[in-house]
Amino acid sequence: MGYKKIKEMLSPEELKSRIPMTDELFAIKSKRDEELKDVFTGKSDRFVVIIGPCSADNENAVMDYMHRLANVYDKVKDRLLIVPRIYTNKPRTTGEGYKGMFHQPDPEKEPDMLEGVMAIRHLHIRSIKETGFTAADEMLYPENWQYLDDLLSYVAIGARSVENQQHRLTVSGMDVPVGMKNPTGGDLTVMMNSVIAAHAKHTFLYGGWEVTTDGNPLAHTILRGAVDKHGQNISNYHYEDLMHVQQMYEHLELENPACIVDANHANSAKHWEQQPRIVKEVLHSRRFNPDLRSLVKGVMIESYIEDGNQPVGGGCYGKSITDPCLGWEKTEKLLYEIADLI
Ligand code: PEP
Ligand code: MN
Repeated sequence: MGYKKIKEMLSPEELKSRIPMTDELFAIKSKRDEELKDVFTGKSDRFVVIIGPCSADNENAVMDYMHRLANVYDKVKDRLLIVPRIYTNKPRTTGEGYKGMFHQPDPEKEPDMLEGVMAIRHLHIRSIKETGFTAADEMLYPENWQYLDDLLSYVAIGARSVENQQHRLTVSGMDVPVGMKNPTGGDLTVMMNSVIAAHAKHTFLYGGWEVTTDGNPLAHTILRGAVDKHGQNISNYHYEDLMHVQQMYEHLELENPACIVDANHANSAKHWEQQPRIVKEVLHSRRFNPDLRSLVKGVMIESYIEDGNQPVGGGCYGKSITDPCLGWEKTEKLLYEIADLI
């Protein structure tokens, strides 16, 4: 019974001094943050593509993927703003299975959370240094933001966390764009309420302190599809779904109305190979209606080196051990198509 203490965690300050950012890397991050902010405030019309594996399970494969992405980015950066996914903490539907690099720096070894958070900082810093990319992650545990707040350029609040008050209040103090996903059951009001909460100022307990925030005007919506009470998939990336979000925003008069469409998860019913079709449909809806062009700021795509997924320990390099992903060949093709179609 109870919680057996294993080891004391380092404070965010100690961790940052052990695996530090440099002034040079901070400058890269500030510039990227500014570029992203400009998209969400409507100053820039670049199209955001948040793309990468469902989980960052292996440093070498993730860095290999990043370098491939950086090569493509060189050719499309006038039109696209690519933000790689370095997703390090995974919500599990039943609590079982691999919970991400944060818990297990090596998915085949026992959990070690101190090693995990150090591995994550190391990976982010390597990514910025070698490719110039600052990345996106899901904030599964609000307390963990303190360990990564100098590294991440984009944060998502997952479908299983979006109704949680601590997540919403924590987002209200963050200085990067944060996407609030629709919940697994699909209720868009829950998603919009989460955005409203994140835009507001709050006073609450965080990191052992009573803190106050100014609100985050860059918090926005992410459509990821849903599952109904019979376990049936309900997609929400079609024209009518986007128009619905547009109308909800009109009633609310929130600053910076914005929506990202997640092409995998319940939108593809995890048929990863459908992602290019889904993304192209979204681009078509944007072209058809100027309101949607300004509302839909980008897409999220689950992509890795190999197509599909495998069990933990499956042994295939660059193949997802969580949700199935679009492999590199198809990913590269899709990125050029997006750049042509927007
Ligand atoms: C994910 O992005 O891998 C994820 C877990 O998303 P969701 O919260 O939409 O299930
Ligand atoms: Mn996923």
